[in-house]
Amino acid sequence: MDFLKRTWAEIHLERLGINIANYCACLQGETKLLCVVKASCYGHADLAICPYLEKELGVKWFAVSNSDEALRLRNMGISGEILILGYTPPENAPELAEHNIIQAITDESYAIELNDYLAGSGKPLRCHAAVDTGMTRIGLRGTPEEIAEALYRIYDLDDLILDGIFTHYAVADSADPGDKAYTAAQTEKFFAVRDEAEKLGVRLAQCHCLNSAAGVYEPDPRSTLGRLGIILYGMYPDPATPLPFEPEPVMELRSMVSQVKRIEAGESVSYGRTFTAERPTLLATVTCGYADGWPRALSNKGEVLIRGKRAKIVGRVCMDQFMIDVTDIPEAAPHDVVTLIGRDGEEVITADEVAALAGTIGYELTCGISARVPRVAYKNGVQMGVYRV
Ligand SMILES: *Cc1c(COP(=O)(O)O)cnc(C)c1O
Repeated sequence: MDFLKRTWAEIHLERLGINIANYCACLQGETKLLCVVKASCYGHADLAICPYLEKELGVKWFAVSNSDEALRLRNMGISGEILILGYTPPENAPELAEHNIIQAITDESYAIELNDYLAGSGKPLRCHAAVDTGMTRIGLRGTPEEIAEALYRIYDLDDLILDGIFTHYAVADSADPGDKAYTAAQTEKFFAVRDEAEKLGVRLAQCHCLNSAAGVYEPDPRSTLGRLGIILYGMYPDPATPLPFEPEPVMELRSMVSQVKRIEAGESVSYGRTFTAERPTLLATVTCGYADGWPRALSNKGEVLIRGKRAKIVGRVCMDQFMIDVTDIPEAAPHDVVTLIGRDGEEVITADEVAALAGTIGYELTCGISARVPRVAYKNGVQMGVYRV
């Protein structure tokens, strides 16, 4: 399949299986895998990845952020369980029930609204109630006893099926002892809620707390699911905290050289004239910019790979183009492929490295690779298709 060879993201599907195997080897007891595929698989293209996860890797559980993403998964033929982790307008509840999608409950009043919209529709909606144990984002709040009583009332609603509860950690990616204690307290509160709910006769098929980081650093066998996100895509929950295995980056981002030229010492480069050559400089122009999701914060900071070597970004990153200093790579030529994220020969640039330079995290960087960048899927080096996020 053809695509515009200007800026494109390669998606290496076989690396998903390696990341899954490494994560699952950390999980304990009966904890099952759930793949977090929100935001079009963190910018990697849900259409490329989700069918592969389900059909080739046997993944049974998926999580997304909203009902559009959930219905997209159903429309592409995903038949496994789909959990929406965030808010859906309650009037859309019947549509979710129709497609057997599981909705997160943010609090008791939201559960009642969902139930009201389902009244008389004949199809109940499955739900997992969020429990706020310290993330302070969504979820039921209070003492374990109070939360359990709210769960009981939700359980009792006619048109909702309370299938499970979940919680989310604030600092599970940190090795700091204070953060570890905070995570442990979140875990204990969560399972205290579960125990209190069970005492009231609320039977929960799923109780899950683990994200990528917690599945590796604090795998608790009481969690029925491990919600694998960032590590699935081969990035670190926190690059400052080591992992017991090397995640395999699934995305590589490539672009092209459009022009190579010599400039004199004293000539300035790009908007704002923030870079002035101190020596005669060989300059290459790259066909990627902030409209592709390449952060403008990398102006005069980032590096890219060309002909297996590192070259510095000089001047401001523009909307569609930026310039690099290739004085030490005199063989650089128009139509050369430039690696922005990924491997070229012996050199590697990771999304985490780029993100740190841009003052952000790998999550935001790959999610931000824009819709105009085609995602080109490969399996063991063989091109499988071209997708849009
Ligand atoms: C995004 C998200 C995850 C995945 O987090 P990672 O750090 O990418 O593993 C898990 N659970 C919830 C509720 C989320 O919102």
